[in-house]
Amino acid sequence: MLEVENVHFDYAGERSGDYPGGATIRADFTVATGHSAALMGPSGSGKSTILNLIAGFLQPHRGDLRFARQSLLGLAPAKRPLTYLLQAHNLFPHLTVRQNLAIGLHPGMRLSPQQNVAIDQALESVSLCEFAHRKPDSLSGGQQQRVALARCLARNRPLLLLDEPFSGLDETLRAEMLSLILRLQEKRALTLLITTHQQRDADVLGAEVVMV
Ligand code: ADP
Ligand code: MG
Repeated sequence: MLEVENVHFDYAGERSGDYPGGATIRADFTVATGHSAALMGPSGSGKSTILNLIAGFLQPHRGDLRFARQSLLGLAPAKRPLTYLLQAHNLFPHLTVRQNLAIGLHPGMRLSPQQNVAIDQALESVSLCEFAHRKPDSLSGGQQQRVALARCLARNRPLLLLDEPFSGLDETLRAEMLSLILRLQEKRALTLLITTHQQRDADVLGAEVVMV
């Protein structure tokens, strides 16, 4: 179970020069292991902040975050049992699709045989095996989004965070990406936390809605 327990985060407390008098974000919810939840709320309500707190890019000022009964708070982002598909997926343009996945597993891309298998499986899951040696720029927006998803999957972590993974996709690609995420979530028994503006996405995923 993912437990977001009475978490408070105050941007003002971070003394960010860009956002004087910043917002306070609060969250208190759980997601059962192998289940999905959708964070919903208007723009600026704190959805991305909550994912950043869970991922460890921000530290809460109050509360606790646990997965499988273990607190995440002492763990560096890379040590947390999760992968995070950011709103901007940040693929490296000078690397091939396969190298983009490899660098997510080892900064020097020196991979164990198991890691190579994990990459093959991840590319297979998103139907991109034949694009492994292409550069991201030569792929469509939807394919690039699937590369970013595969980069998460290759890391084989039990918790998957997705920040508006459908933004910038047209209706057809959006529906494809949604059903892909649903299939993978079921197949890999992932615990899924997604931010979205559409109730319909939550319905398709069978996700419990958490309003922020
Ligand atoms: P959402 O993802 O729901 O659109 P965010 O989590 O990005 O919302 O932002 C929540 C609130 O925090 C907003 O009011 C936003 O302006 C503010 N905020 C976001 N990032 C920062 C930051 N780095 N410094 C100060 N305030 C921020
Ligand atoms: Mg956001």
